Amino acid sequence: MNIILIGTQGSGKGTQAALLTQDFGIRHIATGDLFRKALEEKTTLGLQAKEYVERGSLVPDEITVAMVRTTIEESESKQGIVLDGFPRNLAQARALDSELQSIGRQIDAVIYLNVTREELMSRLAGRYICRAHQHPYHIKFRPPKVPGICDQDGSELYQRSDDTGEAIERRLDIFFRETTHVLDYYKEQRKLLELDADPSVKTVHTALLSQLNSYMEQKKQA
Ligand code: AMP
Repeated sequence: MNIILIGTQGSGKGTQAALLTQDFGIRHIATGDLFRKALEEKTTLGLQAKEYVERGSLVPDEITVAMVRTTIEESESKQGIVLDGFPRNLAQARALDSELQSIGRQIDAVIYLNVTREELMSRLAGRYICRAHQHPYHIKFRPPKVPGICDQDGSELYQRSDDTGEAIERRLDIFFRETTHVLDYYKEQRKLLELDADPSVKTVHTALLSQLNSYMEQKKQA
């Protein structure tokens, strides 16, 4: 099963993607996490992406698409992948389709996590991730057991430099300007599922599984 999760920052994409990897044994590929890891490790990719990521702009397509291609090709999971943060514009969506086609795979479903702006702002203000593996936390909704420390690997928690002020606004603008075309693209392919993602993680996860299962069932019968 190859799935794409689409939503603004703070929509819960990363959290829901991690749950889907457990449900289906598929590999989670998050382009934002891959870029942040490359930045931390100061690799060539990290240096190429640095200024864009810190500013909250999109990294150029040729860099992003090449990174995703390598990651998919290296992906050992035969069960499939869940893409989080990619594709973010039409060019990336088309490049992904042709890459998957060349290896005999395709996207099965695209899930849009729709969150109101009000809910988004309250979530983003308290968001933290860990240095080692980007595990997500939230001061109010999902606090760590020990303040400032990741429950899972003991590494330090920090607030992303693009989770503040202007960068948040820029990323939201990009989402509504560019990524909505991606939603239309998959709607035309009849692969788009839309979910109200304002409720709790658990409620959204249950609704997501139920929509996904009935969609896959319908697809089988068609
Ligand atoms: P995210 O964690 O998904 O919000 O991504 C953080 C940052 O990584 C974005 O603001 C971009 O600078 C970069 N990035 C992540 N995914 C993409 C993508 N698909 N295309 C271009 N840039 C991306």
